[in-house]
Amino acid sequence: LWGQVCNELQRTVGRTNFNTWIAPLQLIELSDGIVSFEAPTKFMCDWVSRNYGEPILRELRNSGMAVERVAIRVPEGRPMPAPEARPMPEKAPAPARKAARVSEDQDLPGAPLDARFTFDSFVVGKPNELAHAAARRVAEGGPVTFNPLFLYGGVGLGKTHLMHAIAHELQTQHGELRVLYLSAEQFMYRFVQALRDRQIMDFKELFRSVDVLMVDDVQFIAGKDSTQEEFFHTFNALVDQGKQIVISADRAPGEIKDLEDRIKSRLQCGLVVDLHPTDYELRLGILQTKTEIHAARNPGLVVASGVLEFLAHRITTNVRVLEGALTRLFAFASLVGREITLDLAQECLADILRASDRRVTIEEIQRKVAEHYNVRLSDMIGPKRLRTIARPRQVAMYLSKHLTTRSLPEIGRRFGGRDHTTIMHGIRKIDELMTTDRQLAEDIGLLKRLMES
Ligand code: ADP
Ligand code: MG
Repeated sequence: LWGQVCNELQRTVGRTNFNTWIAPLQLIELSDGIVSFEAPTKFMCDWVSRNYGEPILRELRNSGMAVERVAIRVPEGRPMPAPEARPMPEKAPAPARKAARVSEDQDLPGAPLDARFTFDSFVVGKPNELAHAAARRVAEGGPVTFNPLFLYGGVGLGKTHLMHAIAHELQTQHGELRVLYLSAEQFMYRFVQALRDRQIMDFKELFRSVDVLMVDDVQFIAGKDSTQEEFFHTFNALVDQGKQIVISADRAPGEIKDLEDRIKSRLQCGLVVDLHPTDYELRLGILQTKTEIHAARNPGLVVASGVLEFLAHRITTNVRVLEGALTRLFAFASLVGREITLDLAQECLADILRASDRRVTIEEIQRKVAEHYNVRLSDMIGPKRLRTIARPRQVAMYLSKHLTTRSLPEIGRRFGGRDHTTIMHGIRKIDELMTTDRQLAEDIGLLKRLMES
């Protein structure tokens, strides 16, 4: 019966969420109308109760069971398992030693993998669920369904983490596959080295012999002509052989300047997914997961309630900064031997908190938008009505509304003393256009990211 309920749940909450949160649950018992589950960690227990308690209850009832309540707990009497030991046993993360073999035994010139970057340690939320699902699909190692997988997003949103996770997973599940992960910079370095040592044939042969090629931060090869050329040929050769390619970049293929058009269009051929900036829920999830990992190794650690919520609320830049804050907090707390309270956090993270408080200004928005559309900054506030100038101006108005806390009259003042109704009209116009004009929507996405990072 639970199997049937699971099928329904997969449909209602989505496969990704299901796999991440519900599949690891153990059904323990049904008594007195209470269905009990065990979750592998305290965090999962809280998260699932909070976010999936309702749907689970609903589906159980739909299946005809008389259920009052769903109870989720961590296994009794067992010390909290380290998060590495968390989900499904067949998916144990690859030990670092094994990952390193990718590049050593098989003579692949890849970059070492970070043993911490696994699917198990990747927290899934709305902003990254598509990217995560796509990465999971590639990691299954089955027939290639989209090629390449192109992941893009701002700094510190988990692109490298996901790529390493794919490599780890393939190594544990499909040891026979030759997986090569490296950054675009390393690709260039290898290429130049091969040219210098007159070993370009070896280089080509090597890169054409892999089953899965992953190139991180591909924007790096923009403007590097011969590297681009070689990359293009490698790419085509692998695609022709039906080999999987995974690429990451800090922006969408079409937005990478100084990248040959034929490469851009090749990169767009497969599945292009972006990692959106984190939202509060995801940040809190990440903080809780990391705290659990840390607490499992440092039993004395006590974090007062509200501290993680405070951080998730205040540090909105990127996950790396969030992690950095947490690491410092742990180090500080262990030094002074104190519980981590809100006061301690505020004191010890003052600089990070101040930096992430920095709000985007309207002037900055105008400058970036003018730069992006190649118009004069003075035209942003000037009177010209030409479409090629008026449209960027409206984009700047739109972003001012969305990225600052200024009121419409205040925005109007900064746009050369325009009336608030003009501003409102501009914002509405952009809202309306974005539903049909993909290029515009992408421009705005890019500009937002540029200004939020
Ligand atoms: P990018 O390559 O996109 O710049 P990284 O993959 O290097 O970002 O991520 C930066 C840091 O944030 C890493 O330590 C990574 O583990 C962590 N991180 C990012 N997203 C997540 C997530 N969803 N869950 C857990 N950790 C994350
Ligand atoms: Mg990266």
